[in-house]
Amino acid sequence: MTNTHVDPTWVQLSYLVAAVLFILALKSMSSPRTARTGVLLGAVGALLATVVLFFSGIELMNLALILIFVAVGSVIGLVAARRVKMTAMPQLVALFNGVGGGAAALIAVVEYLVVGSDDLLFLIFTVATVIIGSVAFSGSIVTYLKLQELMTTRPVVIPLGKWITILVAVATVVGGVWLIVDPQQWLLWALLGLGLLFGVLFVLPVGGADVPIVISLLNAMTGLAVAASGYVLGNVLLLIAGTLVGASGTLLTNLMAKAMGRPLTSTLFGAFSGTTAGGGGTGSDRPVRSSSANDVAIMLGFANKVILVPGYGLAVAQAQSTLRELADLLTEKGIEVDYAIHPVAGRMPGHMNVLLAEANVPYDQLKEMDEINPEFSATDVVLVVGANDVVNPAARTDKTAPIYGMPILDVDAAQQIVFLKRSMRPGFAGIENEILFDPKTTLLFGDAKDSLTKVVSALKNV
Ligand code: NDP
Repeated sequence: MTNTHVDPTWVQLSYLVAAVLFILALKSMSSPRTARTGVLLGAVGALLATVVLFFSGIELMNLALILIFVAVGSVIGLVAARRVKMTAMPQLVALFNGVGGGAAALIAVVEYLVVGSDDLLFLIFTVATVIIGSVAFSGSIVTYLKLQELMTTRPVVIPLGKWITILVAVATVVGGVWLIVDPQQWLLWALLGLGLLFGVLFVLPVGGADVPIVISLLNAMTGLAVAASGYVLGNVLLLIAGTLVGASGTLLTNLMAKAMGRPLTSTLFGAFSGTTAGGGGTGSDRPVRSSSANDVAIMLGFANKVILVPGYGLAVAQAQSTLRELADLLTEKGIEVDYAIHPVAGRMPGHMNVLLAEANVPYDQLKEMDEINPEFSATDVVLVVGANDVVNPAARTDKTAPIYGMPILDVDAAQQIVFLKRSMRPGFAGIENEILFDPKTTLLFGDAKDSLTKVVSALKNV
């Protein structure tokens, strides 16, 4: 490493403590019960690492400016995190992630311009940080725009996009190797530009329903960029923390792709071959059977077994407590009730678990897809609350559907299906759902919370 500064022992020990805290944080986040503690451990680790840096003896230029920006960044982060709605969490993660990647890239640029070095490893890591960090930055900004619906969530395929992307990728690699062999400042700026361009070209063709997987991948990339910048700066903790983010992000990306039943390559490059998940139809004028809250309450009240299927709309309506109230009421009447949890229901991994945990729904009532699927055929009524894509049979049958291949909850095997939604609009993938037109399906139109409140009060009289 080029950095000649050697941290005193107490600083190195503090970094070790911070690294252990990060690892414990990740471990705790693997269960909803301990996730809160995990977040806290991670935050304490980050705080420790930041504070220790100021007293570690390294020469800090522009201390006043640094403190001002730390304060500004902390306030923005705090306000954004406190205000964000649960449903907008993926956008916030995308934004924070992008900023992390961008910061790593800028740090590498500055380190090269100010300190510089002909050391081969320093140059390799500088190039890696600049490229990966800039791709993560611009890619994350595009995912943010898509999820916030500030631009279309459909795949954007520009003419000759595939070839332009390949060209930019090749130019980036060639530029990187060139810089390592023959270091020149202009090449560094060119690499930064190419990385930013590649990030945009890489994410534009990804369709709405696949964007979360890309966020997770970009998150892993930011981790790698930060790890590489740890080498450039000679900071071991950055190396460890970055590697942890890189590794966990890669695992999460794989898990999400698996849950969607699609190989990662099809998610990333699907639009070029026309198989990515994106927007499409917007409901049709074919007849459907709609009903009143009273009728739904009667249907539920006379069932022996009911399965509740929560989805993104439950989070939008913030109806988790009302859903729990309904479940409790049905259980009191001797009806067997379970919640069916699809791995990608909602807008982030574990979204439904977190939402229902907020309403103190007991964990043993939450059944994962593989466990609950065989039970639908013996179920009298399935109540689908604000879910759509995760129950859409097009995933099984329609090879042209963007969600084709994704395992779904087999709600169509039940005797009766009730959908709570506001309109005939499709779900996130933008495709029509045939079950809505099935003769055994009933629709109760309206905001999920209003509808559930009405069903609960009607059920009390059944
Ligand atoms: P969908 O987005 O497919 O469907 C949500 C449904 O909720 C819509 O049909 C909508 O219909 C309805 N809805 C919205 N607001 C309300 C409301 N206030 N009251 C009642 N209904 C409402 O959600 P799913 O959970 O079924 O599927 C998740 C989708 O998100 C999948 O495509 C998945 O791939 C994708 N995804 C998943 C991520 C994850 O990690 N979990 C991350 C990002 C995307 P209407 O407008 O008519 O009310």
